[in-house]
Amino acid sequence: MSEIPYKIYLSEKEIPTAWYNVRADMKNKPAPLLNPGTGEALKAEDLYPIFCEELSKQEMNVTDPWIDIPGEIVDFYKMYRPSPLVRAYCLEKELGTPAHIYYKFEGNNTSGSHKLNSAIAQAYYAKKQGLKGVTTETGAGQWGTALSMATAYFGLDCQVYMVKVSYEQKPFRREVMRTYGATVTPSPSMTTNVGRKINEEFPGTDGSLGCAISEAVEAATSQEGYRYVLGSVLSQVLLHQSVIGLEAKAALDKYGIKADTIIGCAGGGSNLGGLISPFVGEMLRGEANYDIIAVEPASCPSLTRGSYVYDFCDTGRVCPLAKMYTLGSSFMPAPNHAGGLRYHGMSSIVSQLYDDKLIRATSVKQTDVFAAAEKFARVEGILPAPESSHAIKVAIDEALKCKETGEAKNIVFGLTGTGYFDLVAYQKYNDGVMDDYIPTDDDIAKSLAQCPKLG
Ligand SMILES: *Cc1c(COP(=O)(O)O)cnc(C)c1O
Repeated sequence: MSEIPYKIYLSEKEIPTAWYNVRADMKNKPAPLLNPGTGEALKAEDLYPIFCEELSKQEMNVTDPWIDIPGEIVDFYKMYRPSPLVRAYCLEKELGTPAHIYYKFEGNNTSGSHKLNSAIAQAYYAKKQGLKGVTTETGAGQWGTALSMATAYFGLDCQVYMVKVSYEQKPFRREVMRTYGATVTPSPSMTTNVGRKINEEFPGTDGSLGCAISEAVEAATSQEGYRYVLGSVLSQVLLHQSVIGLEAKAALDKYGIKADTIIGCAGGGSNLGGLISPFVGEMLRGEANYDIIAVEPASCPSLTRGSYVYDFCDTGRVCPLAKMYTLGSSFMPAPNHAGGLRYHGMSSIVSQLYDDKLIRATSVKQTDVFAAAEKFARVEGILPAPESSHAIKVAIDEALKCKETGEAKNIVFGLTGTGYFDLVAYQKYNDGVMDDYIPTDDDIAKSLAQCPKLG
């Protein structure tokens, strides 16, 4: 076997030309979305008023293992893909571990994260349907940034509802979005019925992702020629993100490397789902076995402490119901939580894989996450996003276990993005004023009690 380079690059020709739909190989399919009014399973057509038609079909497609990536999307991918699979030689040396650590780095584009992989696909299908524009929500701003890049490329209007606290605290992200032509509105706003209602009930609220989703959905359904798009959680997003896993697998195969452990951070589950899909596919078909770990924040632990039930996807309760590991749609991570990954629920695909014990999950405290981020930055050079650093933390822990056992495991993790816009959080950590808040069982039970009661 030839020596493994620091960076394993694929050629442009090796960019995947079809997304892999892991649902086709799942014996237990993710549960269907339900109409929040009637409790009945939704069909693709039921989603057409909210989502683009092609994306609605992808959302419902549990049978086709491969879905062709349109040439225009592949061409856009060529501007920033294939992303490198990096051998973390320097981190291995720092840890003194016999393990071999690899990370798939998705931060090499202006939006700074993997979210562009799905943003460009969603903008493409909106354009193809002849729409005027799309609406969405953004929390910290990575998704809004990615989407505004994608809509600028296809000449679509882009309306972003940004969680108010982020709008005020992250002016730089906001300006990137505006530079790409997006309109950015702090949420809750006075421009939608649901926003006005939330402002009335909770005057002075900082807003939340669930609330911004409700506003963006209302904005899409009340304007001619607009649809709503979402950057995570949905099965269509995991489908698009399968480019991460397909490229990672192709790069490993090129050098005859068999991964033992695969680690990803889990907010809504899209990067994790995309990274692991081709590997889980092999497990489902009985071709290989992997130890797959989803890493979530201890302050928002949907997989490790939530329930697997149908829940609302948004605070305003206008979206379809999804069966997922959830903390309840009214759950709010503590205000001092700086590390991202703050959505109350988890992708239905990742939830089902977890329930079927094909993957495991763990939660980590944010001060440990930032300690891992700092260690990584100092030896590998990249300033990681706090979200990505959840995966770094567990990759380091796994590599240190190998040091004890002497095993030379191949550990692969997803480095989803860079942390240049997260410096207020880094500042808190550097100043020693970051703390860890872990919700009590009572906190979680209270928000779970508000999940819908079905049949
Ligand atoms: C949005 C984001 C995440 C979390 O979202 P998933 O859907 O769980 O992947 C992780 N890392 C970065 C850098 C992000 O921007």
